[in-house]
Amino acid sequence: MTTEAKKCAHETCNCMVADGKKYCSTICEDSKGVTTLKCDCPHTGCSGHAL
Ligand SMILES: [Zn+2]
Ligand SMILES: [Zn+2]
Repeated sequence: MTTEAKKCAHETCNCMVADGKKYCSTICEDSKGVTTLKCDCPHTGCSGHAL
């Protein structure tokens, strides 16, 4: 039984994602393949917002 938290696959996003998911939000998912320096996900505390 694994309860290891996983990070969002978005480069600049460090939000945790639910098991079985790659991105914390559809916003991050839509950003895949795009080189961006900030994350636009709605999660408070995401390091991608503080740039
Ligand atoms: Zn984020
Ligand atoms: Zn994310």
